[in-house]
Amino acid sequence: METDIRYNPGLLKLELYCKGIRLDDSFFKESKRGRQIMRTRAGLGSGLELVLEDGLWTNVPVVEPFAANSPYLLFREGDDGETLVIRRDGDREKIAEVELSPKPSWYERNTEVSGKPMTRVGSLQGTYLGVYPSKVCEYWLDKPEKTNCKFCSVGLNLGADDADEKSVEEVLEVAIAARDESKITYVDFNTGHYTGETYLDILEPYIRRLKEETGLLIGVQTPPHADLSRYDRLKEMGVNRVSFCFEIWDEERFIDVCPGKHREYGLKRYLDAVKYCAEIGKRRGPFDFDAWVSNGEIIAGLEKPEDSMAAIDWITENGAIPTVCVFRPLKATDYADVPPPKTEDMIPVFARLYEACMDHDLPIGVAPNVHVSLVLLPEEGRYFTSKPQKYRWKEMKLKAQKTVYRKKFLHDLETFDRRRAENGGRIVKEPARA
Ligand code: SF4
Repeated sequence: METDIRYNPGLLKLELYCKGIRLDDSFFKESKRGRQIMRTRAGLGSGLELVLEDGLWTNVPVVEPFAANSPYLLFREGDDGETLVIRRDGDREKIAEVELSPKPSWYERNTEVSGKPMTRVGSLQGTYLGVYPSKVCEYWLDKPEKTNCKFCSVGLNLGADDADEKSVEEVLEVAIAARDESKITYVDFNTGHYTGETYLDILEPYIRRLKEETGLLIGVQTPPHADLSRYDRLKEMGVNRVSFCFEIWDEERFIDVCPGKHREYGLKRYLDAVKYCAEIGKRRGPFDFDAWVSNGEIIAGLEKPEDSMAAIDWITENGAIPTVCVFRPLKATDYADVPPPKTEDMIPVFARLYEACMDHDLPIGVAPNVHVSLVLLPEEGRYFTSKPQKYRWKEMKLKAQKTVYRKKFLHDLETFDRRRAENGGRIVKEPARA
């Protein structure tokens, strides 16, 4: 692996997650602005959205106290002040030129259906639309003591950066704007825990309507439902990805970090759901070309790297794809004072992420135009492998798969757009029945 951060954008992405960045005064000069800093999406993101070399999208910590000690500074340079440069403090050595993630045109607008700012209905995380459509996760409302996950800031955010509840029409309007103007291909729905396991009941009307009207790829991230057949139903509905955030592999740590998840579901139920959903993918027929992925999501940096790697091994052995977040001590959360992980401890975790996915022939990096800013994707783990030669052929196979899938998907989307244009902007005239 290339260890010089100037020549390894994957390593830079990881290093900035772990250390954050400081903004030089020149950064604030009047000039083009990127996206405002929003704390959304299961309380893991908080930073400045940037695009690094090789098209790596990222969300860099800037507001958390640890970022104030970062050895990296972001400058605005050049005659027009439009060149953004990361330099190392002290010698001011140039590390990389970067770009601000473009601010979507629709970020300034309100929805026609309710007048709500569109950003309070959904926001772009990298190049996909993230929607948290319902009320706050109930772990935040538990009394006498809250039982929220200790890293999470969702209960701090809602009502500030993110509106409470969103109607299907509002979400549809924002998704269509994001599709038309930001060329998104994927919408991710996220909920917390609700009594009575209502999260899938809540999401299904959104999923049906969005699928019917836009043809976009759709993902769902909720607690694991007791009735696993609900996931077969989601697949039939057109969902393409289900994700289960169990966060922590070591069970004692899981209980401590995620008391609500432990009380309501337990680690085993999360794992059973990951496995069951991966099996749905294996069972599908020869003419089923619809994308379907089961994800197990963990946070590296809150347990030993070996435990994160054990989780990656288990997930991939069972045919699912790991999503690995790097722990970020968000302001005002229970873990605000816990230090972020060290880059050197995270390198083997992300190398394992890539290698385990490749060893198990998992379809990583295939979805068209899905760049994720809040995590280092499995395919981005290739920046950390010491054996790129071993995966050369598999990489070529994945590239071919990506080309075929992209063509088919974009063709399907064009068909949707044509139908929509013929119907005066909407495909379904009346709201679809749930
Ligand atoms: S389940 Fe945990 S991480 Fe998810 S919203 Fe609730 S408290 Fe936050």
